[in-house]
Amino acid sequence: MQSEILKELDLKHIWHPCTQMKDHENLPLIPIKRAKGMWLYDFKGKAYMDCVSSWWVNLFGHCNETIAGAIKKQVDELEHVILAGFSHEPIIKLSARLCQKVGRGFTKCFYADNGSSAIEVALKMSFHYHFNQGKKKNKFLSLSNSYHGETLGALSVGGVGLYKDTYKALLLECLSVSVPKNKDYQKELQELKSILTKHGKEICAFILEPLVQCAGNMHMYEVGFINEAIKLCHEFGVHVIFDEIAVGFGRTGSLFALHQCQQSPDFICLSKGITGGFMPLSVVLTKDAIYQSFYAPYKEQKAFLHSHSYTGNALACAAANAVLDIFEQDNVLEKNQILSQFIKEEFAKLKKFDFLANFRTCGMISAFDILSVKYERVGLFVFEKALEKALLLRPLGNTIYFMPPYIITKEQISYVVESLEQIFKEF
Ligand SMILES: *Cc1c(COP(=O)(O)O)cnc(C)c1O
Repeated sequence: MQSEILKELDLKHIWHPCTQMKDHENLPLIPIKRAKGMWLYDFKGKAYMDCVSSWWVNLFGHCNETIAGAIKKQVDELEHVILAGFSHEPIIKLSARLCQKVGRGFTKCFYADNGSSAIEVALKMSFHYHFNQGKKKNKFLSLSNSYHGETLGALSVGGVGLYKDTYKALLLECLSVSVPKNKDYQKELQELKSILTKHGKEICAFILEPLVQCAGNMHMYEVGFINEAIKLCHEFGVHVIFDEIAVGFGRTGSLFALHQCQQSPDFICLSKGITGGFMPLSVVLTKDAIYQSFYAPYKEQKAFLHSHSYTGNALACAAANAVLDIFEQDNVLEKNQILSQFIKEEFAKLKKFDFLANFRTCGMISAFDILSVKYERVGLFVFEKALEKALLLRPLGNTIYFMPPYIITKEQISYVVESLEQIFKEF
């Protein structure tokens, strides 16, 4: 089909995510025909460099041959089977590998098919654990500026008003503690301590995105705060849930952000990069002590009866195993260290523009903020200008971030920075 006809049909029938559809009266919609590596190609053959890893899911480039090959092989053997009472080889291998790689006493994997669902699982599991212990806890604690997804439970523990405010009347009542703004986090720790002192008996779990609040404008904060916060929570009998949906699988420099923390949480949620951007899949990892509190004769009604139709899909698990193969074979984390340093140095060239500020990098995430108020929607302005330079960027408000697949080359990084320089010269 012709590109123009496709666009027309699309706008006739598709309601796009996270989009004011009226924007498309002016903003071009871009149907993509095919993709390879860093590049997306539209129907006219125009290329766009995917600088946002297609919403942070893509780790090793589009149509990666290892992952595609694993899915192709799996699709002729077993595409999917009900995971209640049945199992399959890809999920068994994946679960053993994830537990081994996460370490720290994480021995159990519970699967779902998207990030928000993993958050729901972790929240319900934490609540249910306390319930099984005879404790009537019913509140959750989260950080200000946090993002955990869009389903009602996940939205309840979120802190970004843009996504949340409209639905306030529907949401769980939650507690929030300020995320540290800079290196000194004593004030926030005190705040946490007083919340726990006052409400610790009601709180099931404290949920946080370790190291980087991605949807919260790529806010990076101190690991020291996380360590102290975990200690405090555990003193008060409150679980800690790590939402590593965005930061897991190497994004922050280590395979999991957990590995940069001295203290360990009780639950870890993974999704996004888990299949390298090929298939929907998510998982919650937890420890024996939690699992054992559900393990009882059926009539005691302690079982965790949560389920999704596509739980543990075999194609998705095959893709996830291929992702782990690549991590094992290609020295990804070592190579990323060099790339991360290079990205930091290149982006520093943009510091000469006095309306750009707060340059920050954590592993394969880099961001800065635009202070200029010259344009009403400055992010959108940069998005459109970047498209003209064959770059897919998707700013978060006034924050420009760079979160590319790990296969990006130094030349490509320099091209991105040169293009941004040209864009900002026109400001
Ligand atoms: C994307 C994201 C989610 C939600 O995942 P979905 O698959 O979009 O539902 C939750 N937490 C974090 C930190 C995320 O970045």
